[in-house]
Amino acid sequence: MSINNVRVRFAPSPTGPLHIGGVRTALYNYLFARKHGGTMILRVEDTDETRFVEGAQEYIIDAFKWCGIEFDESPEKGGNYGPYIQSQRKDIYSEYAEKLVESGNAYYAFDTAEELTKFRSEAEANKETFTYSSANRKSLNNSENIGIEAAKERIANGEVYVLRFKTPENEELVMHDIVRGEVRVQTSTLDDKVLFKSSGMPTYHLANIIDDHLMEISHVIRGEEWLPSMPLHIMLYRAFGWNAPEFAHLPLLLKPTGNGKLSKRDGDKLGFPVFPTQWINPEGEKSMGYREEGYFADAFINMLALLGWNAGTEQEIFSMEELIEAFSLERVNKSGARFDPEKAKWFNHQYMINNSDEFIAEEFAKILDNKGISYKNLPLAKIVSLVKDRANFTNDIYDQSYFFFETPTEYDAKTVKKRWKEDAPIMMADLKTILQNVQDFSSENTETVVKAWIEAKELPMGKVMNAFRLSIVGAGKGPHMFDIISIIGKDETLLRLQNAIDNIKR
Ligand code: GLU
Repeated sequence: MSINNVRVRFAPSPTGPLHIGGVRTALYNYLFARKHGGTMILRVEDTDETRFVEGAQEYIIDAFKWCGIEFDESPEKGGNYGPYIQSQRKDIYSEYAEKLVESGNAYYAFDTAEELTKFRSEAEANKETFTYSSANRKSLNNSENIGIEAAKERIANGEVYVLRFKTPENEELVMHDIVRGEVRVQTSTLDDKVLFKSSGMPTYHLANIIDDHLMEISHVIRGEEWLPSMPLHIMLYRAFGWNAPEFAHLPLLLKPTGNGKLSKRDGDKLGFPVFPTQWINPEGEKSMGYREEGYFADAFINMLALLGWNAGTEQEIFSMEELIEAFSLERVNKSGARFDPEKAKWFNHQYMINNSDEFIAEEFAKILDNKGISYKNLPLAKIVSLVKDRANFTNDIYDQSYFFFETPTEYDAKTVKKRWKEDAPIMMADLKTILQNVQDFSSENTETVVKAWIEAKELPMGKVMNAFRLSIVGAGKGPHMFDIISIIGKDETLLRLQNAIDNIKR
């Protein structure tokens, strides 16, 4: 079923790098928008100046470019509903804030930070928590207590104030969430949240609602941590006389143990990234990113898509197109999704196997360039095809293939002990003579010739091949021997055999 006029937004606050939970939220918004031919919006929510972090906005934009999540309207691209940065929309909010006072849905409050701290610690001393709410607002320092005229006079005299939402005293709110179904809340359990400050800045709640309304957002798809804000948001829409969008609160990403929210600390402890790309904070401290750890962007996206959603089939590997086709909010799980770092690697491995050798070779070439390793005349795509089964990341490919690029100067001691018997030097010398006379050095041809020689001389096949491998690779591992020598070529093969004869000491 297609839904019309879908407009969704991802609304990060530039307070630091984007957690992968945030990327998943953006991804679900994106899939939903694309599925229904809708619009995907990036809106930067930077009204909390105290939490602003230099570079965070640029980081977020760059991370999405890497992942392939595209926005139709954004600070970069513009659009008909801009500006898309809340600090640039500052003038819009005060007029709406005043409307809430006029309609009796908000009130001015003058309580100072010190007073509120005092109330909080007094309550704490009695093992209670202080909430500014319908139960006590009449006894606090606000226009509900002193009257609107007196309040206006104090404001005219330049007194600092905030606007608070006047939560209905005793009402049961019955709300609907696409993921969770019916959600009921008693308004008596809610506090009177601050909506606006006399500095002229709205808080998150007010700016978010006004912008979602003005930007004609049809569906608010966001993390579960915002579920407690849904009652206030629904009440704000009602107070303004606006239709509320539909809500879908996504399950949390949980630690690998399943206990609690996945945090940066878990990643540091267990050695996996919790950010899409590397983040260097203003103090110069580095945090790992999936991009820098060698994940393919599409594998990363595939892995995230399945943390909290499934297609209802056994299928696990999805391209972005397939995800768009299969995605629905109805199939998003209610319960938290446990993050499994091993599964993340598994996804990358699947993409390693399924990506073309040419594509991986291009990435591998960059790594070799960085290491200053020459690969002139070597068929990188062919090398990749021989070893990629054993690699999760392009970075692993070199560990599996270094012997194509360098002549061994050392020989693995254990393998020498096990595989280099007394007669090995003589066998290798004979093998060298055999190979010297081979003109066609293709894998098939050398294999036929060498095997024919082994059979004719009735040599022990395993013994010969093991010594051969040790001579060429310097260890007991690697892909098919004849594939290796066809790539390194005849001269290099003969050189390595001679080196082994001269240098391996039993
Ligand atoms: N700015 C909020 C955040 O940082 C947005 C929450 C929402 O989507 O309403 O996640």
